[in-house]
This record gives sequence, structure tokens and C-alpha cells, in this order.
Amino acid sequence: MQAKSFLPPQRTLMGPGPSDVNPRVLAAMSRPIIGHLDPVFVGMMEEMKGLLQYAFQTENALTLPVSAPGSAGMETCFVNLVEPGDTVIVCVNGVFGTRMQENVERCGGKAVLVEDDWGAPVSPQKVEDALKGNPDARALAFVHAETSTGAQSDVEALCRLAHAHDCLTIVDSVTGLAGTPLYADAWGVDAIYSGTQKCLSCTPGLSPVSFSQRAVDRIQARSHRVQSWFLDLNLVMGYWGGGAKRAYHHTAPINALYALHEALVVLAEEGLENAWARHARHHEALRAGLEAMGLEFLVAPEHRLPQLNSVRVPEGVDEAAVRAELLERYSLEIGAGLGPYAGKIWRIGLMGHGASERNVLTCLSALEAVLGDMGAVTPGRAMAAARATYARQDRAA
Ligand SMILES: *Cc1c(COP(=O)(O)O)cnc(C)c1O
Repeated sequence: MQAKSFLPPQRTLMGPGPSDVNPRVLAAMSRPIIGHLDPVFVGMMEEMKGLLQYAFQTENALTLPVSAPGSAGMETCFVNLVEPGDTVIVCVNGVFGTRMQENVERCGGKAVLVEDDWGAPVSPQKVEDALKGNPDARALAFVHAETSTGAQSDVEALCRLAHAHDCLTIVDSVTGLAGTPLYADAWGVDAIYSGTQKCLSCTPGLSPVSFSQRAVDRIQARSHRVQSWFLDLNLVMGYWGGGAKRAYHHTAPINALYALHEALVVLAEEGLENAWARHARHHEALRAGLEAMGLEFLVAPEHRLPQLNSVRVPEGVDEAAVRAELLERYSLEIGAGLGPYAGKIWRIGLMGHGASERNVLTCLSALEAVLGDMGAVTPGRAMAAARATYARQDRAA
């Protein structure tokens, strides 16, 4: 059989993830492999725990990367915390809330839905009503940063309500982590999962998770065995939590963990607050450029995520043709709409390493050229608006 190496093109990734990976992270992946029980590797994992605690702003001892993508972090939270018969209040304001609902139901739980429009944040008032109406509820689950729309919900307010009604909180911050403020401990988060390929700018395939002591107590008091062997934290803890006495559970994805370690070192070097501020800065410039072109945002200004910008496709424009041309001629990827917004919005990511002036200006000039050729926007304005925003920010600094 004839076979050739696979040589992918160089792209600029400005969709909903994966995002551009820092070259330092890719370099880290190619370092020599060592055994996953090698004391040097175990030392690296201990360090990684501290780096993840910093990223989540938590002191939770049970903080680790699950060896699989964000969806597996989601399942880890639900299979460990939901038992058959449990009532869980699940907030749905986009794609990822509906997946939470499915997780609860597959665990044998009863999901009580709190629904908000796609593009809106989760309504604390509706959550409070659901908590009052369901005094048997044991947990509240919601998405911090809804990647399907670009809306951000108020983690602190929702957690406060949940705790007032004796519920644990399960939070999806796959897109939130490192892109927008998050203080897991101060805000009362009990279980949280994230992903590596969004604002951490790492390769996909790992899911950082963290569990509070209350969540650990709940897991240890379960009356049913966790139905997933691989994701059962009682077993995973023996590996990640075992210190020098680690028991074999599964072979850790060693080189992928080097990559995550490096991504977290990059984050620590920059500083979490600086990373959040950088996402906000570039979002402002992108917003100015997109609006100058005549494009409209889906989400109200006060609920927008800086790292995920959803804009409406202008009337009469074939949105898939635009994305295809951006990819072909500019090697630039942006995201399509999902669910009710399929064909109606684009999702432009400014995540991690990709939250940069270079990416903002690349995206604006390419999008303006493609849409300008179609007569769909007024050309010649976007770059000036973005650059004026940067100049204003620089003067204010
Ligand atoms: C991307 C994403 C996920 C799933 O992560 P995968 O790594 O694709 O499995 C879950 N929740 C949200 C909010 C996401 O953006």
C-alpha cells in the first residue's frame, strides 16, 4: 500500500473551537515520551493540578484533566453527581444546555428545564422559581459561556440561588475558562468542567474538571455505583489523587498532558486577569469593525462573551458560501450557526492565543472583502473602526 504523510494546511482558527494553538504548546507535545507512572511524570501532574486550580480560581483538591474532550468532562460531572431518581434543574439557553438535560436523563435523573431564548443568558428569576417549585431538586446545572450563541450567564447569582435551596451546582465553562472572569470558589461552584481547545489554546482531547468538598461528599455518599467505569471518580482519584502511590487506572495521554501543562504555564506567565482583559480588548476592536461593516450582534452588549462573537448573516447572503470562500482564499475558519440559528448567524471566536490584533484585522479584512464583493456590506470601514478602537484603548492605558 502506498501512503503519504498527512500535511494539514496552516489555518487561522476563529470558530467556536478548536482555536489557534500557541506554538509553544505544539512544541511541548513533541518532547520525549516517558511512562505515565514515571516519578518525573507524576511530578509534572502534581504541578498541573496547581496550575488548573489557578485557572479555575479554586483550592479544590479534586482538580484534574479528564483524559477525553470537554464532553467527557460533562459526563464526568453528571455520572458522578446524579443518581437514579434525582431531580436536577437544568438551564437550557443553547445547544450545550440540551446536552446537560440528556446527561441527567441518561443517569436516570429527572431534568426540570428552565428555558431561555437562545442568545439570552439564563434568567436567575426563572431559576429561583424552579428551585422553589421543586424542593426535592439536588442540583442546578447551567452553562457559563454558551458557545452556540455567545451569551454569558451570571455564575455567581445562579450559584447563590442554588445554595440557598440546598442544591449543588454543575457548571459548563468549556468556553468560559481563561477567556472571561471565573472564580469557582468565590462564586460557589461545586462541579465544573472545561476543555483544552477553546481559551486555553491547547490541542483538543482533554477536559479539566474540579469538584468542591460538597461534591466529593455527595459522590462518596452515593447509593448506586457510578454506571461508567472509566469516568467513576472514585477510581480516577486513586490515580490522580494517589500522590506517590498511584494505582494504574488507564494510560494517561502523556504528550497531550505535556501540551496542557505548557498551555497552563503560558496562562500563568500572562496572568489570568491579563488574559481576560486581552480577550475583552480584542473583542471591542472586532465588534467595532463588524458593526462598522453593518453587521449586527445576536447577543445584547451586557451579556456578550468576548471570546465568541455571534453576528447575524445579512439578508439574502448564502452564509455557507461565505465561510467556504474565507477558508479557501484566506485560510480562515469561522463558525456557522446551530439549531434555530443554522444559516442565520456566524460565530467568530477570539479564543486564547487567537485573541490577537493580527486575528482581528485578518478576519475583518477577509470578511469585508468577501461580503463587499457580494454587495452585502459597505466596504472600507471595518479596519479603520477596529484600528481607532485599538488607538483609543492604547491612549486610555
Ligand atoms: C466545545 C464545548 C463543549 C464540548 O467540548 P468537546 O471538547 O467538543 O467535547 C461543551 N460545552 C461547551 C459550552 C462547549 O463550547
